[in-house]
Amino acid sequence: MADKYEAIIIGAGPGGVTCSALLAKKGLKVLLLEKNQRVGGKGITVQSKGFKSEMFAMAGVPAHEGAWLEAFRALGIEDRYRVVAKPLALVSRHPGEKWQIVQTQSNDPDQQADPLAPITWCMNDKEKEISLRILAEIFTMSPERIAELDDVSVHDFITRYEDLPKPLYGFFAYLANTSMAGIIETASMAAQIRFMLSVMQKPLGYPKGGFGRMMEDMAEVLKAHNGEVKLRARVEKIVVTDGQVEGVLTKDGLFKAPIVVSNAGIQPTVLKLVGAEHFDRAYINYVKDLLPSLGFVCMRYLLNKPVLEYALYQVWSQQAWWNLEEYKKARAGKLTEDVIFTVSVPSNFDPEMAPPGKQIVVVGATSSPDPQDRMLKPVFAKMDQQMCEVFPEMVPHIESRVGLVGPAQISGISREQVMPGRGGEGVGLGMSVGQTGRNKPSARAPIRGLFYVGFDAGGRDLMGTHQAVDSGMNVAEIVHQYHRGKQQAGGK
Ligand SMILES: Cc1cc2nc3c(=O)[nH]c(=O)nc-3n(C[C@H](O)[C@H](O)[C@H](O)COP(=O)(O)OP(=O)(O)OC[C@H]3O[C@@H](n4cnc5c(N)ncnc54)[C@H](O)[C@@H]3O)c2cc1C
Repeated sequence: MADKYEAIIIGAGPGGVTCSALLAKKGLKVLLLEKNQRVGGKGITVQSKGFKSEMFAMAGVPAHEGAWLEAFRALGIEDRYRVVAKPLALVSRHPGEKWQIVQTQSNDPDQQADPLAPITWCMNDKEKEISLRILAEIFTMSPERIAELDDVSVHDFITRYEDLPKPLYGFFAYLANTSMAGIIETASMAAQIRFMLSVMQKPLGYPKGGFGRMMEDMAEVLKAHNGEVKLRARVEKIVVTDGQVEGVLTKDGLFKAPIVVSNAGIQPTVLKLVGAEHFDRAYINYVKDLLPSLGFVCMRYLLNKPVLEYALYQVWSQQAWWNLEEYKKARAGKLTEDVIFTVSVPSNFDPEMAPPGKQIVVVGATSSPDPQDRMLKPVFAKMDQQMCEVFPEMVPHIESRVGLVGPAQISGISREQVMPGRGGEGVGLGMSVGQTGRNKPSARAPIRGLFYVGFDAGGRDLMGTHQAVDSGMNVAEIVHQYHRGKQQAGGK
C-alpha cells in the first residue's frame, strides 16, 4: 500500500501530538502513526475496574501558564485546558523516626513565599539563613548568567559555596533526582534553574481527565483539520534515499511523505529506524553519547474508600537522595535507607478518575533506566514498604495493587531500547552538562526532511511533558517553514 502525505509524525507522545495537530492546523496533510492503542506516550491513560490514571505518578502542570496552555491556545482549544490545582504535601523524616507531613505548599502564589519549604524543618537557623541567601542568588540570576551554567553540573555549582549547608546539598540532590530525573554530578545546573523557575512557587495541578485526555483533545484538532491518526501502527523503518526522507514502513506497508517527524526518541530514530549507515560516524557518536535521564518504577493502589487527604505528595528524606556514589551502590544492591517517591491521587484532583466512594493512588520512585537493572526489584519493594509506613491507614483499604511497571514498560510504551543499559528513561535524553540550553540536540536531523520532536530535541529546558510540548510547538514551526521553502522552490 502506498499513500501520500505532506508530513508523517511517528509517535503520539506530547511532542508528536502537539506537532502533528499544529501542522494540520497550518494546512499540511498530516498522518500521525502511533504504536500504542491510544495516544498519550508516557502519559497514556490506563483503566482498571473503573479506575483511571496514568501508568505513572504524574502531576505538576502550571494552572495558569506554561507550554501546555500555550499549545492549547495555538490550537484554539484553550477552553479545554482544565487543570485542577491543589496543594502539595511534603512528607519526610529524620533517620529512623516516623514519617510525617512536614510542609503543605499552598497553591496560592501569594502564600508561597518560602522556597525553602521542603527543607527548613530539618535546618538550624544559621543553615536557613545561608540557604536562603544562596537560593535568592539562584532565583534572581539573569538568563545570560543561567546560560553560562549549561556546562556546569548542579554539584559543581553549589559546592562553590564554601559555607553550603549539608541539608541544602541534599535538597539539590533530591531536586535533580525528581524534577530532572538526573544525578547531581551530571545534571546541568542551567537546566535545573530553568526547571525551578518554570514550576516552583506556581499553582500546580493535574489535568481534569488526566494527561492522556489532554493529548486526546489535541488529536481531535488534528482530525478536524483533515489529519489522520493510525493507532497500533508501529513504524519499523524510516525510508531514506540519497539523503532524503521518502516515507515510513509499517506492517501495513509504505506510507510516503517528503517530511518525517519522529517522536520515537533520537537514539531509536537514528540507530534503528533510519540506520547508522545513513549518518557519518561523528554524528552517530554524538547521538550515542547523549545521556539518558533516570527511569521510574511505579504502581497503582486501588482503594475501597478515599483515605489519602492530599492530591499530591512528595516523599523524601536526607537519607534518600542519590548522587553518583549512592547510585552506583544502589545498582550494586545497596540501597539508601529511604527512597524518594511521588504520590499522585488522580481522584482527589478529579473525582471521575475513580468509581464513586473509591480512591486511586499512583506512586513512582526514581530508578535506573536500564530495563534489566537488578536495582529495580529492591527499589520497588522499598517504595511499597515505605508507602505503607507513610500511610498505614491506607493498608486495610487496598482493594488491589495494579500496574507494577518499570523501565521495561516505559520503553514498551514509548522509546524502544537500542542502547545497552538504557531505553527505560522516564523523561528523555539531553539534560546533562553540555547537552542543555544552546547545546541541546537540534530538531533537524542531518537528512533532508527528517526532524525530531519531543523531550529529546527542539524544546526549552522544562519539566518532562512541558519540554516535549514546547518542542512540539517549535518543531511545527520549523517544519512548516521547511515545507513552505520546498513549495516555493517548486519541490513536492
Ligand atoms: C513515572 C513518570 C513520571 C513522570 N512525571 C511527569 C510529570 O509529573 N510531569 C511531566 O511533565 N512529565 C513527567 N514525566 C515525563 C514525561 O512523561 C516525558 O518527558 C514525556 O512524555 C516525553 O514526551 P515525548 O513527546 O518525548 O514522547 P513520549 O511520551 O516518550 O512518547 C513517544 C511516543 O512515540 C511512540 N513511538 C515510539 N516509537 C514508535 C514507533 N516505532 N512507531 C510508532 N510510534 C512510536 C510511543 O508509543 C509514544 O506514544 C514522567 C515520566 C514518567 C515515566
